[in-house]
This record gives sequence, C-alpha cells and structure tokens, in this order.
Amino acid sequence: MSRNVYKQIYKKIKKYQTIVIARHVGPDPDAVTSQIALRDAIKYTFPNKNVYAVGASVYRFKKFGLLDKVALDTLKSCLLIITDVPNLDRVDDIFQLNYQEVIKIDHHPCSEKVSELELVDDTASSACQLVAELIYKTPLKMNVSVAENLFLGIVSDSDRFLLSYTSAKTFQIISKLIDDYRLDFNRLYASLYERPINEIRFHGYLGENLEIQESGLAFIKIMPEIINKYNVDLATPSNMINDFNFIKEVLVWVFITYDEKNEIYKINIRSRGPIINTVAEQFHGGGHKFASGARVKTMEEVDLMLQDLNQVCEEYQKLR
Ligand code: AMP
Repeated sequence: MSRNVYKQIYKKIKKYQTIVIARHVGPDPDAVTSQIALRDAIKYTFPNKNVYAVGASVYRFKKFGLLDKVALDTLKSCLLIITDVPNLDRVDDIFQLNYQEVIKIDHHPCSEKVSELELVDDTASSACQLVAELIYKTPLKMNVSVAENLFLGIVSDSDRFLLSYTSAKTFQIISKLIDDYRLDFNRLYASLYERPINEIRFHGYLGENLEIQESGLAFIKIMPEIINKYNVDLATPSNMINDFNFIKEVLVWVFITYDEKNEIYKINIRSRGPIINTVAEQFHGGGHKFASGARVKTMEEVDLMLQDLNQVCEEYQKLR
C-alpha cells in the first residue's frame, strides 16, 4: 500500500467537520470494532469534529462501544467512510445520508470501486488491521479503548490467527497494540468467547446433525424450531461456523439458517481448499475465497447452491 493513500485519507479526515463511519449489514465483530475504533481515534485526535458510527445496533456487540443515533438526512457535506464492506449496497443504514465524498477501508476482494480513495487490501487479516495501519502511519491518535477494539477485530476475523490471511504484519500490529497499551488480553478474549450453556448445547446439535457428503461438502439446514428450542438467535450459527474448521472429512461446510421473519435463508460458507466466493456470487452473495455468505429466498436455490459447492469440492479432490 503506498504511503500516499494513508496520507490522503488523513487529509480528508482533517478537512471534514462531519464524518460518518458505516459498515456492512449483519455485522460481525470486525465490522463493528473497525468503525468504532476509527470513530474514537478521529474524535480523540480532533475533539471538535462530529464523528458518527452508524448502523443497526447488535445487543451482543454493545460491549465494544455504542453506535450513534443521528438523523442522517440532516447532516450536510459530510465525509462517509465505509469499513469492512466492498460495495455500497451492503452498507448498513446510509440511505438517507447525503455525503460529499466516500472512502473505503476494506479487506474483501474488490467487487466494486466505490471511491477514488480506497484503502483496500484483500490479503489483510481484517478491517481492523487496516484501520490500525492507518492510525499508526498518520498523525491520528490512539488510546486504550481504540487499541482494545482493534485487537478484538483482528483476533476475531483472523479466528485467533488460524486463518490464512494472518501474516507477519498481523502479528507486528498485535504485538505493538499489546505492548503500547498493556492490553489485558485474557479479559478481551473472554469478551469475545464467553458463551451461555444453551449455545454450547446448540453447538453440540450442529456437530451431531452436520450432513457430510463424499466430496467433502458438509451442510446443515437450521430451521426456526431448532433456533427456538436452544434459545439462540439467528446470528448464532454465523458466530459458530469457524469452530468447524479442521474436520478431517470436510473441505467446505455450509450453515443454512431460515430467517422466518424476513422469509430468507441466511447462508454461511467456509472452506479449507476449494474457492467458494465464486459460487456465493452466483447467488447474490460474496465474500472471501474461503469465507463467504449469501441470502437466498427459496430452498430450491439453497439446493442449487449446495450442488454447485459439491461440484467445486469434487473438482478440488480430483486435482489433489
Ligand atoms: P459470514 O458467513 O456472514 O460471516 O460472511 C462471510 C463473508 O462473506 C464476510 O466477509 C461477508 O462480508 C461476506 N458475505 C456474507 N454474506 C454476503 C452477501 N449476502 N453478499 C456479499 N458478501 C457476503
């Protein structure tokens, strides 16, 4: 990444009095911590600016910091910064915002050029890694709570440094954050990984009922009665899918969760070999090569997607 990009982003941040920071719909910890860390770093550096982190609040993520409730249609000539999202139509809650310029900070494969000024690196572990680089390479200032959020986003999106986009740079940033701010990482880990017992029981249900095909494709269809029985929410399967990595018999695994209220199937896909985002893209989804998602309306589409993923696994097996 050229030094120039960081400098230019800093210049824009300095120029605007009002800045809105948004991320993708259905956020994960990296999406929320990246927007909150960036908001708090900008406010810490420029206390007189109006900086808002927007999007639907997720109860579980309140511990990372509160989002801002602001009438977006009343804001004038603001800068929009989007984090952890490649395209504008997946950005949460900006329909009413009339922004003057937009900057993208993201680690997904680039599916849409949104702005002339983009800090995009699809080899980075997380959006938080990119926000940390931006802060470290410019006069933006950090404090303990910014450092904690950056740590949480990086740890969570790299799945505790297990995923392939973990690099020397990831470890350098993590070690600098721990060192500079004396982070209590036991407490931070607990805030990401502590779970109630009903979730552990639901986890057992997923393992017990995962269907595994000869090709290495595994899937489970999670219907509302199961969600209700275990008293979990619709986001719980997404939060658990990475726990099913390293199953000897499985190459690609898929959680299909029916969202009764919105009449849609939420699909999480993970892989430890075959490339899956090309399949997800054919079903209005997307994501990374080995971690993708989609939302489809019918079980027929779900089954078509499973067929395609099965084929991708078979082709991958043939080449091994
Ligand atoms: P998830 O399984 O929801 O954790 O998503 C895995 C990856 O796929 C993330 O990088 C998401 O941003 C991306 N993703 C999930 N759903 C979609 C979708 N409907 N369209 C595009 N990308 C998606």
